Amino acid sequence: MSITVVGSIAFDAVETPFGRRERMLGGAATHFALAASFFDRVNVVGPVGDDFGDAEMAILGTRGSGVDDVERVSGGRTFFWRGRYGSDLNSRETLDTRLNVFESFQPKLSQESQECDVLFLANIQPALQLEVREQCRRARFVALDSMNLWIDIARDALLEVIARVDCLILNDEELRQLTGKPNLVSAARQVLGWGPRVIVAKQGEYGAALITDAGFFALPAYPLETVVDPTGAGDTFAGGFVGYVARHPAATAMDRVLRNAMAYGTALASFNVEQFGTEAVHALDAAAVRSRVEELARFTRFDHDAVELAGAPASVVGE
Ligand code: AMP
Repeated sequence: MSITVVGSIAFDAVETPFGRRERMLGGAATHFALAASFFDRVNVVGPVGDDFGDAEMAILGTRGSGVDDVERVSGGRTFFWRGRYGSDLNSRETLDTRLNVFESFQPKLSQESQECDVLFLANIQPALQLEVREQCRRARFVALDSMNLWIDIARDALLEVIARVDCLILNDEELRQLTGKPNLVSAARQVLGWGPRVIVAKQGEYGAALITDAGFFALPAYPLETVVDPTGAGDTFAGGFVGYVARHPAATAMDRVLRNAMAYGTALASFNVEQFGTEAVHALDAAAVRSRVEELARFTRFDHDAVELAGAPASVVGE
């Protein structure tokens, strides 16, 4: 079993009230892979430029993620994003987006990536997400993330790919923008009518909500006193969520799996925001993830099911 992810692999320039970084490893696929690699083998698909060094590639390959489908485009430059957060770390401004090597990227997946069990279409042009979706026909669970830019400039392609996935993971604001519905539950219901059977609305420091035909579930974010850089929190959440789903066969009670997946996504995202970029999740160990999930489960009175994570055995619930 394995997970394939396509999405941005980036250099980010970020300014938050706690400091700034002019050039740090980022990208939706990067943050996703760092989190999902706790659960299963991840294969990363996407292009990078000459400016992407071996040190960055090694971070992308953390916990055994496969980087053979990361194409180094000679003469090209890696995707670049510049953003700024104000004192409200929940909202940010994009100051610059340069697609660079993504502009002419044509994904050709290796057999291993094509044969994935679970696929995550992380944030990038919807046309590329669709091309990768087409190549992974056997995937039993396909999830997708996007953002306001693509809703604005590539809406038709985005709707086309949304109709071909099982799960949509978006910020609540983006879900409203996508559907034109100000009410989150009715926005999610509308998307459920387009094809997906699972909707996750990320709500920043307020947590995340899960909406399916079977019902509604929500978890608050793990309460942190210090948030340094929220960049990548959404993708890290997705890595935990999708990673947990990947570890459970299709026959397992889906509702319960999804609720647990929310807890793992929430815990992993909380580590991500404690440091800049990939720093925290790269250095993270399984025991710390496990204890944060347990703590989250305790204070939300949520009866969670532990899973074995890369690097440490799982505890048995109730031990
Ligand atoms: P998140 O904070 O989880 O929403 O994701 C942040 C990451 O998304 C950053 O590391 C950026 O490199 C990446 N990103 C920003 N804008 C875009 C875009 N238009 N397409 C793809 N990835 C993007």
